Amino acid sequence: MSHTSIQNLMRRIPGVDVLLHTDDLQKALGTHPRKIVLESIRQVLEETRKGLRENTLPDPEEELQIHRLVGHVIQRVERLSSHTLRPVINATGIVVHTNLGRSLLPREALERLQLMGERFNNLEYDLELGKRGSRYVHAEAILRELTGAEAALVVNNNAGAVFLVLNSLAQGREVIVSRGQLVEIGGSFRIPDVMRCSGAILQDVGCTNRTHLHDYASAISQSTALLMKVHTSNYRIVGFSSEVTLEEMVSLGQKNNIPVVEDLGSGSFVDFSPYGLTGEPTVQQAVKAGADVVTFSGDKLLGGPQVGIILGREDLIAKCRKNPLTRALRVDKMALGALEATLRLYRDEREALQKIPTLRMITMPLKTLEEKADALMAAIRAADAKDCLEVQKVESSSQVGGGALPAQNFRTWAVAVRSEKVTTPHLEIALRKNKTPIIGRIESDRYLMDVRTLQDGDMKIIQEAFKKLVLQLP
Ligand SMILES: *Cc1c(COP(=O)(O)O)cnc(C)c1O
Repeated sequence: MSHTSIQNLMRRIPGVDVLLHTDDLQKALGTHPRKIVLESIRQVLEETRKGLRENTLPDPEEELQIHRLVGHVIQRVERLSSHTLRPVINATGIVVHTNLGRSLLPREALERLQLMGERFNNLEYDLELGKRGSRYVHAEAILRELTGAEAALVVNNNAGAVFLVLNSLAQGREVIVSRGQLVEIGGSFRIPDVMRCSGAILQDVGCTNRTHLHDYASAISQSTALLMKVHTSNYRIVGFSSEVTLEEMVSLGQKNNIPVVEDLGSGSFVDFSPYGLTGEPTVQQAVKAGADVVTFSGDKLLGGPQVGIILGREDLIAKCRKNPLTRALRVDKMALGALEATLRLYRDEREALQKIPTLRMITMPLKTLEEKADALMAAIRAADAKDCLEVQKVESSSQVGGGALPAQNFRTWAVAVRSEKVTTPHLEIALRKNKTPIIGRIESDRYLMDVRTLQDGDMKIIQEAFKKLVLQLP
């Protein structure tokens, strides 16, 4: 395009006021702050000028039409005024999905969350004595009651819990860990790194696939502070392998007067083996086996808010509590309120399984899953006005996630969609860009939605998304 014609087009770019006084943008002012609407107009006009200057607009004449510009502005207003953190639909079947916010809270916990947010409370006020109290008393009694531990301390998350335990009990001294347990959990949480940051010295023993009790025994020295066992979380060593049991470590620790710490990671209160998921040690088992300190997350298999829980011997927990770092890792009132409410449900395991969404999803019967898949399949077929989607119900496998029960896939039902009119990756993008984003996966060139993790109301949203998508297809 010649310089003069660009100049001519530039002159035709409308002013801010012209756009602002269109009906659509006047209407937008009714629901969005003026500042956002003006900023959106400014951005769109600036981009249009840039497009003209650099000659990147496919059809400059068309782009300068008022209705076109207004359309762009409205899109921009919506983008600028939407939250960055928002709900999505989890159709991955991964129940504890760290990228999708981990556990959904039971209603009982949500109520406490709201209450602690809107009312003053006795977070750090002792109502008996009428003076300053400690926030750490709140969940302690119920944690002791449920697990049999002597003492408990709740911090911000489990990474913080592990860090605090190592720093409080082993700074400048050695911690013996099996080489088979030097794991990276994801999000750069690696045991050797956490160890170094905490000031503890890692003494790794054994081999990747096999570690024996005598490996621990011969590594013990004057400078040994702890024996540590780490849940290998998201992977498992199979074949010619062996690890020392917690019981064996405890008896070695007792003989040498060295505390044993176990990082359980997920920390389940429920034994899932009746539901076909075996091998996840429960918190109660670890306490009973004599671990001196146990750490785990609140928002993995426990199904509560993000917290890190430290249980164990009173004298060791007291050292953690006194560490000034505890202040930097402290748990907030909302999480504490939600945690206490979640824990109370565990007083009756049947109630916990029904009311805690994470547990409900994990133990959902296959028959219920199949019914959900039937319903989703029907909903999507009903949305397919052009009869251009192939929709099938397929057997698949879910994952617990959160590093729990790795390599155990448990059976589930999913709905698979493909179309001659659109590629599967394109389908995935369109659904991910939906107003309420839908997160599924591609498998064998089909878009797969596992129904295990779908919540009430999700099917309706998925149906609407497909309806819209089909209308846009040729
Ligand atoms: C998940 C996990 C952690 C970290 O817990 P966060 O709650 O994410 O801080 C630590 N150790 C193990 C073994 C884990 O699985």
